[in-house]
Amino acid sequence: MSSRPASHALRLPSIDSLLRHPACQPLAERYGRDALLASLRQLLDDLREPVLSGQLSAVEIIPQVLAGRAGERLAVQHRSHVRRVFNLTGTVLHTNLGRALLPEEAIDAVQMAARYPLNLEFDLHSGKRGDRDDLIEGLIRELTGAEAVTVVNNNAAAVLLTLNSLGARKEGIISRGELIEIGGAFRIPDIMARAGVKLHEVGTTNRTHAKDYEAAIGPRSGLVMRVHASNYEIQGFTTRVPTAELAALAHQHGLPLLEDLGSGSLLDLTRWGLPAEPTVRQALLDGADIVTFSGDKLLGGPQAGLIVGRKDLIARIKKNPLKRALRVDKLTLAALEAVLGLYRNPDRLAERLPSLRLLTRAQADILAQAKRLQPSLAKVLGEGWDVAAVPALGMIGSGSQPVARLPSAALCLRPHTSKRLRGRRLQGLEAGFRALPIPVLGRIDDDALWLDLRQLDDEATWLAQLDQLQTQDREA
Ligand SMILES: *Cc1c(COP(=O)(O)O)cnc(C)c1O
Repeated sequence: MSSRPASHALRLPSIDSLLRHPACQPLAERYGRDALLASLRQLLDDLREPVLSGQLSAVEIIPQVLAGRAGERLAVQHRSHVRRVFNLTGTVLHTNLGRALLPEEAIDAVQMAARYPLNLEFDLHSGKRGDRDDLIEGLIRELTGAEAVTVVNNNAAAVLLTLNSLGARKEGIISRGELIEIGGAFRIPDIMARAGVKLHEVGTTNRTHAKDYEAAIGPRSGLVMRVHASNYEIQGFTTRVPTAELAALAHQHGLPLLEDLGSGSLLDLTRWGLPAEPTVRQALLDGADIVTFSGDKLLGGPQAGLIVGRKDLIARIKKNPLKRALRVDKLTLAALEAVLGLYRNPDRLAERLPSLRLLTRAQADILAQAKRLQPSLAKVLGEGWDVAAVPALGMIGSGSQPVARLPSAALCLRPHTSKRLRGRRLQGLEAGFRALPIPVLGRIDDDALWLDLRQLDDEATWLAQLDQLQTQDREA
């Protein structure tokens, strides 16, 4: 209920006078008159009641102050939806957070490709039309031993396109142990169906033998498929036919072997102390005719799907009209070439490729960082929280090595509260970190919020915004 204004009551300025006021001119310039008008109208509506009931003083409604408040509202409304975050989840190649971070060389290449015309499909030697895949074919051949390559939007597209090109209206033979689902509703049986390939599953979940494949091969067979079970592991009583043996079997019957490696590393990661991951070169040496893998998983590049292997099969894949629908853009190709270029010098790769640098950061180094930051965070959080710098376990992410853990270190935040209230306070703190100008994302586990520091490069920026943390964790 609003009471009638007393004769001495304050009056809000009119919309017109505000719009004309010099304090509003920069806002009109920046956001446009219509947006400013709408914002001022909303602001005045919101203030009418507080003004009538005497909650505001005269200085709180002068045009300069109102312009400032309208400006704040407009800034929030016009804030970009694509936002930088701090990934302190402990998962390095986090699919929901954009996977691999690009090296400077690739960022420069993307800028160049964004800013200028380029020879995307133009052969500068002959002056004739070119093929965008040619831009990286030489590097891929050098790094994997493949005869040919074609690049599409992501590895899911690579699998779809390959299956459809080589196996449509025929049977695709695959082990029951490899009929996997990868996050985001990518399921091998569904992709096969959409590719027009009839699924012929063989063996059992834990054991598939060469004779199972052999028994399945017949006049309707189109290809044999192998999928790297990237996001789970079957342990115990298991049998899997080695790629070399499976390839020999497929070739005896004139069938191509397609191997979806998922991450597919270009180099043996054990040289950096990381878990072994099959390499693209080895899969090809073992006899896979086509290998597909992602650009933004262990490779450390932009989102892309690489299809490499036999020249005649790649030529068939490139003729498929779907290729046109799934092709990559110039920014991706520019970034990809730059990333692949770094692989030519493996000795320096771990310094230059951010994903590898982060994956190989020493636990002692991360723990030292946690100890360094602990006092600042403890001070911000105050009495109600226990802040500890502790060893922690992270993971590679994106389905690579699902069982392997990366020894890391974290700031572990525990509320001093009865067990009953702990969950709410943790959620409040987690939401507070998420609401920072650059949201900080950790993980809640075992009644604590963990901030894994493996990926905290930019310590100064992280620290500078801590005093804006609102924990929303008052005990209610
Ligand atoms: C990740 C993955 C895919 C999908 O790759 P995207 O690049 O995310 O499309 C397909 N197959 C396997 C085995 C994978 O690990």
